[in-house]
Amino acid sequence: MSTPPPPDVLITDTVQGHWLLQGGRIAARGQGGRIAAHGMQLAAPPGATVIDGSGCLVLPGLVDAHAHIDKTLWGTPWHAHDAGPTLMDKIRREREILRTRGLSPAEQSARLLQRMLACGTTHCRTHVDIGPEQGLASFEGVMATRQAWRDLIDLQVVAFPQTGVMVAPGTLALLEAAVQQGAQVLGGIDPMGLDRDPKGQLDGLFAIAGRHGCALDIHLHDRGELGAVTLEMIADRCAALGLRGRVAISHAFCLGSVEPARLEALIERLLQEDIAIMTHAPSGTTPFPPLKLLHQRGVRLFTGSDGVRDTWSPLNNGDMLERAYLLAYKNGFRHDEDIDTALHLATHGGAQVMGAEGYGLDIGCQADLVLVEAQTNAEAVVMHPPRRAVFKRGRLVAGAMRS
Ligand SMILES: [Zn+2]
Repeated sequence: MSTPPPPDVLITDTVQGHWLLQGGRIAARGQGGRIAAHGMQLAAPPGATVIDGSGCLVLPGLVDAHAHIDKTLWGTPWHAHDAGPTLMDKIRREREILRTRGLSPAEQSARLLQRMLACGTTHCRTHVDIGPEQGLASFEGVMATRQAWRDLIDLQVVAFPQTGVMVAPGTLALLEAAVQQGAQVLGGIDPMGLDRDPKGQLDGLFAIAGRHGCALDIHLHDRGELGAVTLEMIADRCAALGLRGRVAISHAFCLGSVEPARLEALIERLLQEDIAIMTHAPSGTTPFPPLKLLHQRGVRLFTGSDGVRDTWSPLNNGDMLERAYLLAYKNGFRHDEDIDTALHLATHGGAQVMGAEGYGLDIGCQADLVLVEAQTNAEAVVMHPPRRAVFKRGRLVAGAMRS
């Protein structure tokens, strides 16, 4: 079958005027920042800026749906990593570094968003630390950034109890205050491993979600049966409160570390409550959810950078095409179809979990687009080349243009 010639992309923006991406692999005509039509050899309206998109692929804006932008060290001198091996070692080291460096969550989050935008990320869900030590300071900083960057990136904020809930008295009230002040999602963390009180943490979180109707996204690092039982406890509460489709579990290492029969039972619970799973393909030997199997069974999946250049790890850099590559690499994907699945997590999968309105490349969608030098999705993932141009709601927001 012969490949049809690449069509043009035409987007219209009320602020910057028209952009015509000539020879890109999807065509779009936009109005008010939306895609209004697809077509071949579209005529450039008067005053349109024509961009040479030959050899390029147009992707929907990338979605980083699990980040921690409040505590990145991005843009600051290199931090030598020396924290101990346990979760509490890392939390303690993080508190110490953030205290002594005196970094501003508003400034740091904006620095990282700049980087994400350059990589083609147009949507981000970020977990922001809330706890007795810093109160709502980080949350308020990120909310200020969210407001300042509202035309550049859709930012969804998760109220996140990094230092635990039941072991850090006062945290539940702070989380609820954050939800009342605009956090769209409520977070949680290792109800058993960190709190040693899964009933206490989950009952507390779900009560807040029930009162305010917010979505939940819970970090669950506990492996094996500890994590599996916690997952079931989350599903029980999801069902009891009618929150089907509103809950996500991040990391869910337990799904990569239980017996096959146990995994099947857990998949059933995930499907019953339509619980989404986030994995970022952790480094080292950490177990992680089996992507291909979960995707085939219809479990909703998404991904994110997790911490970028923070005190936890120096390895993540905010590039979601590279993240899709790491997902493919860690899962041993070789077929294009499987590599497409990895990209799906960094695009439509994340957008769906975030409830992103008008996401995609169809007519009527928001013109959130990334132009990359690649012929196919698989090539874009494998090579993760520099982004030639990034558009948010029809406006050019990043990229070096060639016209
Ligand atoms: Zn995280």
